[in-house]
Amino acid sequence: MVMIKKANPVGFCWGVRRAINIAEDALKNKTKIYSFGPIIHNPLVVKELQSKGLEVIKDADQALDGRILIRSHGIHPSIREKIRAKKIKILDATCPFVKRSHRIVNNLKREGFYIIIAGEANHPEVAALAEAAGKNKRIVINSKQMKRLNLKNKEVALLAQSTLTKSLFEEITQSLRDKNPSKLKVFDTICSDVAKRQYEAARLSKTVDLMFVIGGKVSANTKRLAELCKKEGVKTYHIETEKEIKDEWFKGAKSVGIISGSSTPRWIVDRVIIRIRRNVTI
Ligand code: SF4
Repeated sequence: MVMIKKANPVGFCWGVRRAINIAEDALKNKTKIYSFGPIIHNPLVVKELQSKGLEVIKDADQALDGRILIRSHGIHPSIREKIRAKKIKILDATCPFVKRSHRIVNNLKREGFYIIIAGEANHPEVAALAEAAGKNKRIVINSKQMKRLNLKNKEVALLAQSTLTKSLFEEITQSLRDKNPSKLKVFDTICSDVAKRQYEAARLSKTVDLMFVIGGKVSANTKRLAELCKKEGVKTYHIETEKEIKDEWFKGAKSVGIISGSSTPRWIVDRVIIRIRRNVTI
């Protein structure tokens, strides 16, 4: 029998749970609800909400009536304005932690800081923050990307995508300090739930033969958890559901670690555990 070690926490984070509750409550009232992009990066959950009437749109013009739900990642200020101009009601499910990052960016912009956002340029959270920051900004995903950046005599501020790893943020912070800006403000905007999961991923990886990281294949925080596990040298599988699991993966494994991204529901984690317990013969 393989030993299963489960991380704490698993399942939805607080911000995702909140966004889904907002969507489900609204859908109960039978009003037409549009979600600006998939509400979370988990196809199974999105499919379930679509079956209850949620429609995923890419452009505000696709919403004819009803209400538009803003997902936990937040939204570009220009898109928010466009929705307002169309006089369509907004259901704002932006995670309060992401809202805090927007407040920080707005203040820094007002104060004239050069803003550096550490994160993935194509992630919706970062793209929205970047637009809010205006022209005086740069997005970087590692310290190498700052090589040619001249920050001498500049007042600079740094903040992070909520799902960035602590180690990467520290690396970027250090290389920023090395550039001797005249003033430097650092805002650690990494979400505490994400940081806890990253810590657990590294801790568990040291104690098991195999790691299962459960979550959407495009989910940034789930991908980072898988990277962290691999970095520890443990055999790691990033899966969305229990259906992907193959018996041969367990050959020689005595212990398995389980961790999930913050947009993975608890019931998928439970199904993975049942799949491991019931169906695996080693
Ligand atoms: S991971 Fe953190 S920042 Fe992102 S939605 Fe969850 S609680 Fe909010």
